[in-house]
Amino acid sequence: MERYDALVRALGAEIPGFRIVRKDRSRLHRMIHYALVAVTFGRMRSYLDSYQTTIGKTVYVTSDWDDWPADRRYVTLRHEAIHLRQFRKYTLPVMALLYVLLPLPLGLAWFRARFEQEAYAETIRAAAEVWGPEHPRRPDYRKYVIDQFVGPSYGWMWPFRRSVERWYDQVLATVDTVR
Ligand SMILES: [Zn+2]
Repeated sequence: MERYDALVRALGAEIPGFRIVRKDRSRLHRMIHYALVAVTFGRMRSYLDSYQTTIGKTVYVTSDWDDWPADRRYVTLRHEAIHLRQFRKYTLPVMALLYVLLPLPLGLAWFRARFEQEAYAETIRAAAEVWGPEHPRRPDYRKYVIDQFVGPSYGWMWPFRRSVERWYDQVLATVDTVR
């Protein structure tokens, strides 16, 4: 069985009610899209077709999800699995409040950055597992992940690039250099 299919099956057992839904078929996500366009002054227009998003027990995916290579879906689902567990731990209303609003919705979103650090650490580990330990050490990959924190993708959630770089390198230090 593919790694991806095994993970879907394992998550179904771990999180009763877990499901994967296409984002463009969800009214909620179309509303989130328009809200994001508004609060980011039009800079964030790619929510519906660029981001996989977990809310509660549901992972919402872009319409091209099934066309992705299974390994890429696997790495992304490992990230989303962390969010599924965060929602289970904190409950949906608490998680949503912490993730979206505190202490600020944009520019300094400490909780969002912490939740995403936990999830991206899993992304880094999964990428090393699938594509080899050198993959997350590539400068372009490292920069891509760090930019998620300091750039507009998540509303400039943590603007201190040096601290995000330190976090990234601490995670890398826990990833073996040989397969
Ligand atoms: Zn995430």
